[in-house]
Amino acid sequence: MHPSALFAIDGLLTDEERDIRQAVRQVCDREIRPYVADWFEAGTLPARELARSLGSVGVLGMHLDGYGCAGLGAVAYGLACLELEGADSGLRSLVSVQGSLAMYAIWKYGSEEQKQEWLPAMAAGERIGCFGLTEPDFGSDPAGMRTTAKRDGSDWVLNGTKMWITNGSVSDVAVVWARAEEGIRGFLVPAGTPGFAVHDLKRKVSLRASVTSELVLDGVRLPQEAMLPGARGLSGPLGCLNEARFGIVFGAMGAALDCLETALAYAAEREIFARPLASFQLTQEKLADMTLELGKGLLLAVHLGRLKERGELTPEQVSVGKLNNVREAIDIARTCRTLLGASGITLEYPVIRHAVNLESVLTYEGTSEIHTLVVGKALTGVPAFH
Ligand SMILES: Cc1cc2nc3c(=O)[nH]c(=O)nc-3n(C[C@H](O)[C@H](O)[C@H](O)COP(=O)(O)OP(=O)(O)OC[C@H]3O[C@@H](n4cnc5c(N)ncnc54)[C@H](O)[C@@H]3O)c2cc1C
Repeated sequence: MHPSALFAIDGLLTDEERDIRQAVRQVCDREIRPYVADWFEAGTLPARELARSLGSVGVLGMHLDGYGCAGLGAVAYGLACLELEGADSGLRSLVSVQGSLAMYAIWKYGSEEQKQEWLPAMAAGERIGCFGLTEPDFGSDPAGMRTTAKRDGSDWVLNGTKMWITNGSVSDVAVVWARAEEGIRGFLVPAGTPGFAVHDLKRKVSLRASVTSELVLDGVRLPQEAMLPGARGLSGPLGCLNEARFGIVFGAMGAALDCLETALAYAAEREIFARPLASFQLTQEKLADMTLELGKGLLLAVHLGRLKERGELTPEQVSVGKLNNVREAIDIARTCRTLLGASGITLEYPVIRHAVNLESVLTYEGTSEIHTLVVGKALTGVPAFH
């Protein structure tokens, strides 16, 4: 029996949602799964080709309306994230950053001209975007950012460094958040703008099939029209992060499901002490425990998705989902790794790749500690951080 069948998850989905999940699964099976271990090992990703493929099936910015975007519901978007992350968290990161961070920032806060210029091409995957909030000294506390935006006549001049930026060196446009006199503002910085340099971060052990870069802004001069008019203060970037976090609630369960399916198949075939590994009680306990957490995580994801579709989802509820589902996904990946024995440490199976990828997912889009503190504040009314 398939683990999600025990929870009758499919019965909670519409026909359209099941079709979308199937369409994304087919792209993953055809264009990602056969190659992703090699990309991971080599630390590369054919991001442009993949963006075009994913754009052609309407995944990029699929939860946004207009400008070439599909305007689909939150659960449909979540299921796409689940399938993508079932292939690799790096692929889901590419799509999350493109759709939920870069495109969402332009869609929500941009001028009509900015939307017309960027969104249709980004939805088609012809142009890629990145989102620069984190700095070398400010990750969990972005309010401390040092990147500045100063007015010079009718222009803006940006100086500073952004760190750990997904899609950085393959992007045509960077959404950069900077401190202006009036507060934090967002800017669209096209690749190749004088003074704007991008360097890839090397020697990553996690999320290797994903581009991660440093953005250096050294006297980058931009016209007034490059500023996102609708975003003022930290609520601008935080609103985008909330969108991407929602995708992770589903995505992490995709990685966990891929691990569990792999472990179930392995346990059925592997003979130990002249019996299948699956026949031992200790194995069955592991499989049952993992299935419980997976099922609960999927139910939580669908529930939060329905709340989001009704416009009722709060940031605290997104924190609950991200905290729980990434934590449980890591536990599931590690337990599946033990079931595979020595084979579990090779890239011949996806499990160790998911396990190390999920370490990044635990940290980005708000660390597990920060989400714990968000839930703690919601419960007690007392902020443990500011
Ligand atoms: C692969 C990858 C891709 C990323 N992509 C992007 C991107 O596209 N754009 C972007 O802007 N950023 C991106 N990030 C950055 C990510 O969002 C930050 O790494 C994250 O916010 C944590 O910041 P930090 O690494 O500076 O850790 P720190 O903030 O230095 O935290 C270090 C530790 O301290 C803990 N901590 C922090 N505050 C408290 C507290 N009050 N109490 C207790 N513990 C605390 C943290 O939870 C963590 O365990 C990416 C990161 C990775 C790894």
